[in-house]
Amino acid sequence: MKYVDEFRDPEAVRRLVEAIRRMATRRWTLMEVCGGQTHNLLRYGIDEALEGCIELIHGPGCPVCVTPVETIDAAQELSLRPNTILASFGDMLRVPGSHGTLLSSRSKGGRVAVVYSPLDAVEIARERPQDQIVFLAVGFETTAPATALAVQQATHYGLDNFSLLVAHVCVLPAMQMLATAPDHRAKAFLAAGHVCAVTGFAEYDEFVRRFRLPLVVTGFEPVDLLEGILACVRQLETGVASVENCYARSVRREGNLAAQRLVEQIYEVRDTPWRGFGVIPRGGLKLREEWQRFDARQRFSATPEVAACATECPAGDVLIGRIRPTECPHFGTRCTPDSPLGAPMVSTEGPCAAYHRYRVASHAGK
Ligand code: SF4
Repeated sequence: MKYVDEFRDPEAVRRLVEAIRRMATRRWTLMEVCGGQTHNLLRYGIDEALEGCIELIHGPGCPVCVTPVETIDAAQELSLRPNTILASFGDMLRVPGSHGTLLSSRSKGGRVAVVYSPLDAVEIARERPQDQIVFLAVGFETTAPATALAVQQATHYGLDNFSLLVAHVCVLPAMQMLATAPDHRAKAFLAAGHVCAVTGFAEYDEFVRRFRLPLVVTGFEPVDLLEGILACVRQLETGVASVENCYARSVRREGNLAAQRLVEQIYEVRDTPWRGFGVIPRGGLKLREEWQRFDARQRFSATPEVAACATECPAGDVLIGRIRPTECPHFGTRCTPDSPLGAPMVSTEGPCAAYHRYRVASHAGK
């Protein structure tokens, strides 16, 4: 614990908050694009400690939240087919589609298995040759290497009963879309440390050059987050816009080359629908031609993807930072963690879940 304690040290946190307050000559608006960071900013009260000095707005950093309704619909449909098991991370089970959730599919007899890794789904496929196992492959660049590895493993074992329902998304194209939006307000970005641990951060150079927006790679502990915020403010106050790495203990400029090679071998980028955003050019991944036999959509002629969002949840406005979760008319009333209307209230990385947990539930318990 000593290693983590160092990055939660109250005295270090106090000094960093003071340094940020001293340095900022105006109220700067910063955006983080990582659900884990969103939760920790609220959990540790960093947003409140910097109130009046820094406005923190939350970007589309929760992959569960941006998984399209139609992907949930397709997953539900597959789970209800005979001799088919839909395997998924637990977070996805309560994400609403057009006709309920994967949990509600279970209650209708659908077969849904919760797994902790795509490799667990490969194991199920080995143990149950009589069933088709479909893994719901969601997530940013952080989870794509593991699903790529699952495809390799399934090939190694010669499995013809394993496939992926691919819904992987890529962070940078979404940031580019945000930066070109006419009403975007972020003056600098905190980039997600765990994504950059895989991708590196060289690819952000062009983004920073093009938009003149500082970008700082940041970790997850309070000291990490505040160091990232301080670096953003320093750049903004001095009129600089560059890529800076404040998470050097985990992130190298070139990233994890082995993971990148693995992803590159199995996937290629494609224009991809994001929930609440529409189609983002080059915003996600698809299986390469030579791996199409692992594509569940093709194997089962599952529901085609479209970009429409058919729910009453204004997730897009929240995930683009246009409104805070608490400004959604359904927040805490019709939409709660026990009865969510949208994915941002379900996911452990969702911004609405974060506000409910750290600004409603915890205050109610005081
Ligand atoms: S509070 Fe609920 S309905 Fe509103 S944006 Fe969040 S998840 Fe959607």
